[in-house]
Amino acid sequence: MKAEVVVIGSGISGLTAAASLTKRNRQVVIVERNQKPGGALKHFVRKGIPFDVGFHYSGCLGSGGILRVLWEYLGVWSHLRVHPFPSEGNDSLILRNSEKSVQAFFSYERLEDELQQAFPNEAEGIATYLKALRDICASIPFYNLDLSLTPFLRAPLSSAKIGLAPFLTSLTKDPDLQAVLASPAFLYGVPPRQAGLAVHAMVAHAFISGAYAIDGGGQAIVDAFLATLAEAGVDILTGQEVESVLVKENQVAGVKTSEGEIYASHVIYTGHPTSLLDLVPDGIFRKAFYNRIRNLINTDSMFVVFGAVDDPGSLDDLTWVNHYAIPSGLDILDVNLKYPEESALLMTAPGRRYSDSALSDAQRGIILMRPASWDEVAPFSVDSGKARPASYKRWKAQSADRLLDQAKKLWGYSRIEPLAIGSPLTFRDKLGVPGGAVYGVQHCLNQYNPGARTRLSGLWLSGQGTLMTGIVGASLSGLVTAGEIEGLEPLWDEVRQCR
Ligand SMILES: Cc1cc2nc3c(=O)[nH]c(=O)nc-3n(C[C@H](O)[C@H](O)[C@H](O)COP(=O)(O)OP(=O)(O)OC[C@H]3O[C@@H](n4cnc5c(N)ncnc54)[C@H](O)[C@@H]3O)c2cc1C
Repeated sequence: MKAEVVVIGSGISGLTAAASLTKRNRQVVIVERNQKPGGALKHFVRKGIPFDVGFHYSGCLGSGGILRVLWEYLGVWSHLRVHPFPSEGNDSLILRNSEKSVQAFFSYERLEDELQQAFPNEAEGIATYLKALRDICASIPFYNLDLSLTPFLRAPLSSAKIGLAPFLTSLTKDPDLQAVLASPAFLYGVPPRQAGLAVHAMVAHAFISGAYAIDGGGQAIVDAFLATLAEAGVDILTGQEVESVLVKENQVAGVKTSEGEIYASHVIYTGHPTSLLDLVPDGIFRKAFYNRIRNLINTDSMFVVFGAVDDPGSLDDLTWVNHYAIPSGLDILDVNLKYPEESALLMTAPGRRYSDSALSDAQRGIILMRPASWDEVAPFSVDSGKARPASYKRWKAQSADRLLDQAKKLWGYSRIEPLAIGSPLTFRDKLGVPGGAVYGVQHCLNQYNPGARTRLSGLWLSGQGTLMTGIVGASLSGLVTAGEIEGLEPLWDEVRQCR
């Protein structure tokens, strides 16, 4: 089989890279080792209740928002129904140490009012924080579409070396406020003491500018891409693992999959960067690059209970409110290994936001999550595909009970029946990432994430481990990698015309 470009992986970054390249008339083949395309945008149904795994909500989907502009350009926007969170929607934060409660609204004005009411002596720090987010994002082309792309990609932002923790502690000594301002870290998975202000700003600004749900969740995004790619004649070969990248005379020649060889002059790899090292012949990369990629620091994992409530009416606001409980201070993402359920918690119900959910069982679906460490499952760790020991199943059920118990104390509800449970082991195997790292590689201070280019001509990287994580970050990484092949600024100009 022959193609111009082989994309390894059908997550949102691979789908975006493929769709961007087909817009430029490239002949693209996507190879995906899973039976179904979509990567982390997994979806499953239990007892008639739809559950999303890797997508709950996003920013950048309002008018002029980069994800909307990109989806307009790629032709997927017309396949989607996007619902903005209404003005009363928010991330409701309970501070676990003080029991203070703060509503983090998806609007700069409302958020500032709320924070000033909750922390009346901290007006200056709050205003400085919000201004810093806006100022940083005004210098980033994905938020200020008047800017060129190349300078941003080639040189780090001046704010890139500022740590989030020192910045927050310079603004306020109040540990509750520190935790509230740090809380968007949940959406990129870096503990605030390791996080940089610039990355934090990129993610926080996206959500404070407006949060959005998508009818049908992550699966709807995947279906929209599949429809667009089918029109463009793109083959998606599922159930095939790429086993190696073929190299001829220091140039990519294609890939070898579990089913055969595909010849191509460009290959885009979207999986975890460390796993790429095993796909490329020895000696291709310099030792320094090899060591850097081998030693990348990953995000932590999560423990997740997908459940059903008997009485959805008892949790009325859950449709447009995500309920978080977080410790005070800057350790909000740390896992308390002795009492992991006393770490941070999130209760959400993205299925309720589907437009046909009002009459369906989707109303009963509820998702509870907490950060989890690989150390919790290390004693049970078995190879992928092998049966898990009974001790693991017991640990999982007991951990789920304790999580439900905590959630009941915090938020109250009639009863939640656990229907599925995800642990770091589950995420390792289902997402194919080391340690079940839900957001892949950390985008943190002092870590130099790989870019799209590699030393091997024709081999490109993309995905959440490169540019940024989340649906927005991974999508933009797909665009950037396509741009590196096609010419960054011409592609960026075409995209920007869709504002
Ligand atoms: C529990 C959870 C909740 C989340 N919630 C949100 C949210 O609310 N909002 C948000 O914006 N983001 C959220 N995210 C993050 C978001 O889902 C990811 O950042 C994004 O989907 C990553 O896309 P990707 O294309 O980079 O990687 P992936 O989706 O992981 O895709 C990579 C693909 O490559 C394939 N692959 C790898 N190696 C090979 C090989 N050798 N051969 C063939 N195929 C291969 C893999 O099978 C996989 O399908 C969440 C993630 C998780 C896990």
